[in-house]
Amino acid sequence: MQVRQVPVPVPQAPGWVLVTPALAGICAGDLNLVSGAAAPSVLSAYEHRAPVIPGHEVVGVVAGASSTRWAKEGDRVLVEPTLRCTHKGLPECARCRAGDTHLCENRDRAGALCSGPSIGNSERAGGGWSEGFLAHEDMLVPADTIPDQRGVLAEPLASAVHAVLHWHRRGDRAAVLGAGAQARLVVASLRRLHPDLDITVLYDTRNPWRPRLGPRARRPAHMQGDVSADFAAIRSMGASRVLRGSGEEHLRRVAEILGARVLAPQNGALPVLDGGVDAVFDCHASAESLETGVRLLRAGGMLVLAARPSLQLVEWPLIWARELTVVGSALYGRESSGHRTFAIAREWLADTAFPIDSLVTHRFPLEDHEAAISVAVAGVSAGAVKVVFEGPAAEMRVRMDAEPAAADQAIDVPLLLHATSAHTRTGARTASNGS
Ligand SMILES: [Zn+2]
Repeated sequence: MQVRQVPVPVPQAPGWVLVTPALAGICAGDLNLVSGAAAPSVLSAYEHRAPVIPGHEVVGVVAGASSTRWAKEGDRVLVEPTLRCTHKGLPECARCRAGDTHLCENRDRAGALCSGPSIGNSERAGGGWSEGFLAHEDMLVPADTIPDQRGVLAEPLASAVHAVLHWHRRGDRAAVLGAGAQARLVVASLRRLHPDLDITVLYDTRNPWRPRLGPRARRPAHMQGDVSADFAAIRSMGASRVLRGSGEEHLRRVAEILGARVLAPQNGALPVLDGGVDAVFDCHASAESLETGVRLLRAGGMLVLAARPSLQLVEWPLIWARELTVVGSALYGRESSGHRTFAIAREWLADTAFPIDSLVTHRFPLEDHEAAISVAVAGVSAGAVKVVFEGPAAEMRVRMDAEPAAADQAIDVPLLLHATSAHTRTGARTASNGS
């Protein structure tokens, strides 16, 4: 990965606009891209092999628009990054025609207008880790009064909303596996939809559930997470409790708390709960989390895969015997209610009572991409939840540049931030045309 100057892209068809990013998030998929980790199994058929500008979690400002229906220069917008048939100039596939555009069957194909599956993974459109990228106005949602720090969460929140809406509630108890931004957004979404649901969050700050980060995964020695503050932050988003430990510890603690029975398999494998939780939202999808997840579920329960798994062994006998439902939840689009997932996400982001202001913990200029990536890789064990890049349209740039305290920070030390307000480092931030 490198920062370099490239020409500013120019919208070349009706409906297309140039967007200047304000903030652009770093997600687990981006870390896989940056580390060069191979796509799992058959998904490599979708792999985009040309160099790309990453960044698909974006809030920004329309900087250039012509021949548009509603988008105009100066509009602050949230960006739904998925590219579908019509954006590429291809005839619509069956899924797009049915309105399930997130399941577009041409996601690996290039058309006359665009290529790649999404903003951030497209040669023509570019991505949010830049000073400008292209999007079709169909992909934009007005940000109105939503602040940048919340707006940049629109894409991961839409994923969380989609995951949560897969579960048509049957029962009173859910578990969320993981402690990253996705898991927290799932917790907040579950709580918003189900005020009385019992929600247990299971995670391990020793980090065995972050196995795919490659050689860059070493945590800088100076970074330490504050576990008790983090537990409180997750509870404030709606978790009934937060537990930390190994898979076996999680199973035994949950059984104790919920009054489930612990069954011990004869082969010495991990125990299985009888009368466990009704739904598991696996936001890590590692071998360990999946193994724990299916064992936590009671008969008839649902496992929602809310993160990308790799090729792993799964306890199919348990899924068969207990008639469990396993459902993948990869993106967002239109929900069964008929609502666009991004419209739901926008409504929730605009509600200041929706408790997600603690999520953006670190902001970096693009030039500091190595520090930004290393903080994102270190993750919750280093106090980092959502790490974002600042673009030219960032609202807080001017104010924070003028903040004298921030100027004292050593340039190599990423700031660990307070729970409710993100800080940024000053210095090394220069304006330039295109990147
Ligand atoms: Zn399609």
